[in-house]
Amino acid sequence: MIDVCNIHVMKPLLESHGFHFSKAKGQNFLIAPWVPESIVREAGVDKTAGVLEIGPGIGPLTQQLCLNAERVCAVELDTRLKPILDMTVGAFPNLEIIWNDVLKLDVPALVREKFPGLRPMACANLPYYITSPILTALLEAECFESVTVMVQKEVAQRIAARPGSADYSAFTVFCQYYAQPELLFDVPAGCFLPQPKVTSAVISLRVRRERNWDILDQDVFFRLVRASFAMRRKKLSNGLASGFPELGKAGAAEVIAAAGFDANVRGETLSIPEFARIANEIVRRTDHD
Ligand code: SAM
Repeated sequence: MIDVCNIHVMKPLLESHGFHFSKAKGQNFLIAPWVPESIVREAGVDKTAGVLEIGPGIGPLTQQLCLNAERVCAVELDTRLKPILDMTVGAFPNLEIIWNDVLKLDVPALVREKFPGLRPMACANLPYYITSPILTALLEAECFESVTVMVQKEVAQRIAARPGSADYSAFTVFCQYYAQPELLFDVPAGCFLPQPKVTSAVISLRVRRERNWDILDQDVFFRLVRASFAMRRKKLSNGLASGFPELGKAGAAEVIAAAGFDANVRGETLSIPEFARIANEIVRRTDHD
């Protein structure tokens, strides 16, 4: 197996194919073998797993996935990598490479077709310029057992943030609605070629089987979350009145009181069950109007 993480192997390999890194495609390739090995171990990839990889690059994580999973589908946008991937991972019989933009795929249909009877997982060293749209698509697909990804460290911290902290955001609530995050380990910039300007981190998102929050209307819930963080330095009543103009200022205040909160409560302090209580109060009120 070609040691693609070894810089003395990788550089001549890339040069012999006239390959130049594309910043626009978020290409920072791993040159530290412990990283893909740790991702696969921490994700619990084994012969019961079918793994969707996003952005195999020249294949460091793909190799480890193929060695451990039953089946691997890797989605890569940059077809210049084809001859290199043929050499580095072409011999694995349990691998299929899909040459496409991951954001254009019907992920649930792909998982149903490729991984019948297996535990579906997603693993990736993500292209950072589209971290949020990819994570959104993977979580909304509601077909994975877990999603284990390398992202910018600050994004990982935002995903795992607690209510009331500076990192807590609408994206935190979105991710934690679908999954339980766990920060696994940091990856210094020196582990990549070329080196990114930021520190990276690997995070695991264990997808929730059940969500016990009795949310009456998911759309209203997420509308409320967005409205709360759009004015995060202000009282929730302000965000609520502007995000739900149909309530009016008085109605917004009434919703907050009826849900059992102080008039001065701020959205950035609320947990998912607390957002759910307020969202349900909005649904009841607007349904009754
Ligand atoms: N997995 C490799 C590694 O760890 O060395 C490469 C990771 S690199 C950070 C991100 C990879 O995602 C690149 O190979 C890039 O070409 C690919 N990529 C970028 N945008 C993509 C998209 N929309 N769909 C699929 N792959 C994409």
